[in-house]
Amino acid sequence: MERTLTMIKPDGVNRNLIGEVINRFEKAGLKVVGLKMLHLTKRQAEEFYAIHRGKPFFDELTTYMSSGPVIAMVLEGENAVAKTREIMGATDPKEAAPGTIRADLALSKGENTVHGSDSLENAAIEIAFFFSQSELL
Ligand code: ATP
Ligand code: MG
Repeated sequence: MERTLTMIKPDGVNRNLIGEVINRFEKAGLKVVGLKMLHLTKRQAEEFYAIHRGKPFFDELTTYMSSGPVIAMVLEGENAVAKTREIMGATDPKEAAPGTIRADLALSKGENTVHGSDSLENAAIEIAFFFSQSELL
């Protein structure tokens, strides 16, 4: 059984979409096995998205991700990494498939409501970024 790290980004928390987003994952059969709310510092956002350091949107991204609280969640299920990415939809809501979280709820390519790990390897790294063993059930 796979585990993946998802976040509800500041625009989602701010617009009261926490329940809506979690509902979509749960309905797809993914189980919440860890969950917390926190406000990332700019430094923490830079560390989390370190892979994008140097890209033109890096400062905008990390400023945005530290602009308000986020929900960090670990989801468990068969093919959890790919399934979560499918339910989220493409990065840019204009390109996201109908019925996905980003097509239905995201505001823009930057403020796109959710994050999901893009590989099993990165899922393990990202889960460890937010959660200790005792916080995962
Ligand atoms: P995430 O990693 O948040 O799940 P993703 O894997 O779909 O999203 P990435 O390419 O990893 O997309 O980009 C990380 C995030 O950086 C995007 O979700 C988006 O918020 C922001 N981003 C990416 N490209 C741009 C861009 N061209 N302009 C503004 N923001 C961008
Ligand atoms: Mg990504």
